[in-house]
Amino acid sequence: MLTNTQLAALFADIAGREDILGENAFKIRAYRNVAEIIDNFPRPMRDVWQAGALDGVPGIGKEIAKKIDELMRTGKLDYFERLRAKVPDGVAALLDVPDLGPKRVKLIWETLGVTDLDALEAAAQAGKLRDLPKMGEKTEQRILAGIASLRRRATGRVRLGDALPVARAIVEALRDVPGVAKIDYAGSLRRGRETIGDIDIVVATTEPATVGAAFRALPLVAEVLGAGPTKSSIRTTDNLQVDLRAVDPRHWGATLQYFTGSQAHNIRVRAIAQQQGLSLNEYGVTPEGGELIPFDTEEGLYARLGLAWIPPELREDRGEIEAAALGANRLPKLVTAKALRGDLQMHTTWSDGEVDVMGMAQAALALGYEYILITDHSRSLGIANGLTPERLIAQRAEIDRVNRDLGGRFRVLQGVECEVLSDGALDLPDEALAACDLVQASVHTSLSQARERITARALRAIGNPNVHILGHPSGRQINAREPADYDWEALFVGAAKARVALEINANPERLDLNDTHARRAAELGCLLTISTDAHSPAMLANMAYGVLTARRAWVTPDRVVNTWPLKKVLDWARERRTQ
Ligand SMILES: [Zn+2]
Repeated sequence: MLTNTQLAALFADIAGREDILGENAFKIRAYRNVAEIIDNFPRPMRDVWQAGALDGVPGIGKEIAKKIDELMRTGKLDYFERLRAKVPDGVAALLDVPDLGPKRVKLIWETLGVTDLDALEAAAQAGKLRDLPKMGEKTEQRILAGIASLRRRATGRVRLGDALPVARAIVEALRDVPGVAKIDYAGSLRRGRETIGDIDIVVATTEPATVGAAFRALPLVAEVLGAGPTKSSIRTTDNLQVDLRAVDPRHWGATLQYFTGSQAHNIRVRAIAQQQGLSLNEYGVTPEGGELIPFDTEEGLYARLGLAWIPPELREDRGEIEAAALGANRLPKLVTAKALRGDLQMHTTWSDGEVDVMGMAQAALALGYEYILITDHSRSLGIANGLTPERLIAQRAEIDRVNRDLGGRFRVLQGVECEVLSDGALDLPDEALAACDLVQASVHTSLSQARERITARALRAIGNPNVHILGHPSGRQINAREPADYDWEALFVGAAKARVALEINANPERLDLNDTHARRAAELGCLLTISTDAHSPAMLANMAYGVLTARRAWVTPDRVVNTWPLKKVLDWARERRTQ
């Protein structure tokens, strides 16, 4: 049975869709009024309906009363269903984007074929909105910001990739302020979580007032939320809240540890302190009846409690405290960005990337890599001229030429991001796949298949001996799209047995596998890759997010294929095919 809120939302939805269609303005206003009336009505409309008294409610005419009656009786409204057939749900949802009224929604929908938020974001990022009538580049940017804030509102948390650059910029801007000894970001950001609430910054200084004032005067500040002697809070122009805490340099280690969290980790650490007769706070530890012992390093604090220093990414109370109590060598030697020799997923102008093979090769070379794998899309995805067997052959010629031109300093490998069709078959014939150095299979469509079906589908795909990597396995997009419902244990066992690597996609919109899945996969013996899925040279820098995710998953470098020397990678690829 429908509540008043649901009823009101439905009438508001009708108004929105009719607005997009450009229907009669009076009619649209009438629906909006009805939504308003129902939303504010003091009793359930259901009771009014059951009492047969709908026509006695001021503002509800005969037509509306009939619609409410149909909804209450059948749970559906034929009129609304017909409207939905004309204006898809995804198009109606675009009205929630700030700066996007019904006229613009209609224009974007009709001229660009945009029917959901993802497509709108892609169109704006590709600069396709600015040339539409009465739009321009500024509006396009506002729409992008609106989409971002809409997604944040959904979870109240921003993606790691949206928060980390802001935090780094603030830290860099304040580093040279007089009196600053040390400065770093803390909280879930320092732990590398995939989404962040507020940004916490800790600064060690003997002049807290100076740093606080400099912080509040930064150009990115939209609003000052608080200004105390040691703590300031601001809201940035991107609508992020940032808290700055100033401490005496003697307390730096204890304070950084305290504000890095997680809460679960810190509860355990405090309990360990208590067992030793110590009380722990953000300044240090205090023995019973004694003086506060400050710590200027985290290492000092952990050591005082009998624990090895724990990398921030592990501080989630997922076994790291038990390991640290046994000594530093019981904690995993986590993978680092420096250990990576290559990047195994990226796109070029052969499909939907921005630059050609040479462009990506040179960018990767500049980052210090030894090799890259080019993985353009296969044809069935239907985006930007996906690869056919013939085009793969032509691409091979270009890759050979690039390798010759680079003169052996670097190796470009040919791969393909091959679509896994809805039944698990691959989008390219085996001969075409066999000619690639490495093949990545990815599921992009029908992600909502039932668990058994989608699991069998992925297992069938990785059962093909030409497949080496399963790309962004869950298909989720953080704050935007739910992951597919795999039987993860079965998938991981299958991948481990086949020696097919699972990707940790480093794009901060994906981070897929996520930390807990990647950890379980590694426990079950799976190989992993950490790759950016870059569509432009700039996106190669996203690797840092993938590394953070892998570290949160306790991943050591030996597990990660792209830490291996090229020869070992190629040997693995060959062995896989002769299994
Ligand atoms: Zn993909």
